[in-house]
Amino acid sequence: KHFEEMKFPKILIRAMSKKGIVKPSPIQIQGIPTVLSGRDLIGIAFTGSGKTLVFVLPLIMFCLEQEHKLPFNKDEGPYGLIICPSRELARQTFEIVTYYCNYLREEGFPEIRACLAMGGVQVNEAVDVIRKGVHIMIATPGRLMDMLDKKIVKLDVCRYLTMDEADRMIDLGFEEDIRTIFSYFKAQRQTLLFSATMPKKIQNFARSALVQPITINV
Ligand code: AMP
Repeated sequence: KHFEEMKFPKILIRAMSKKGIVKPSPIQIQGIPTVLSGRDLIGIAFTGSGKTLVFVLPLIMFCLEQEHKLPFNKDEGPYGLIICPSRELARQTFEIVTYYCNYLREEGFPEIRACLAMGGVQVNEAVDVIRKGVHIMIATPGRLMDMLDKKIVKLDVCRYLTMDEADRMIDLGFEEDIRTIFSYFKAQRQTLLFSATMPKKIQNFARSALVQPITINV
């Protein structure tokens, strides 16, 4: 199986191969077509499985498509939200997203803007990106809640939500925050949940947050 068969734009295949990513991993083979089909997804996967690209690449493709159809308004966004339990994971994910966005821009593709919303990062940094129109927001629950509460961020046009390391988020006591975050969504959304483990607690949470999800266990 190759990335070429997965309906990826050639530009993304080039960007991946520059990072030594030439053959999809098992979770990518199963997960990426599922995400591209628009279905909700539960991915039971560890770090190292290649799970990040399962939610990052389809989201970037979605943003590119939107940019071609109807360029972004200022002060709009995000289209896609990625919630992470820790600052380290949020930053790593942001760096991956930024790598692909920069690669696209350097090759003359529309600008896809991403921002990081978490403790330790100035709110103003995110605000500057939000003003231009932010496509992808990567956030930790606490800071995001704060920004939603202060109406610095809106999720009115957000149609794509990923929760990474959901088991850790629940263990850290973020369940209620995440449910509050759900209530800010206005449009129908696609929801992806990744977790290393699937105890009852996470299963119940997933059942209430996702619609007829496809489960992938690698
Ligand atoms: P992740 O599980 O998403 O945290 O990815 C772990 C590491 O694997 C990252 O350093 C990725 O760059 C790398 N990676 C992701 N997908 C692939 C792939 N298909 N082939 C080789 N390396 C990959």
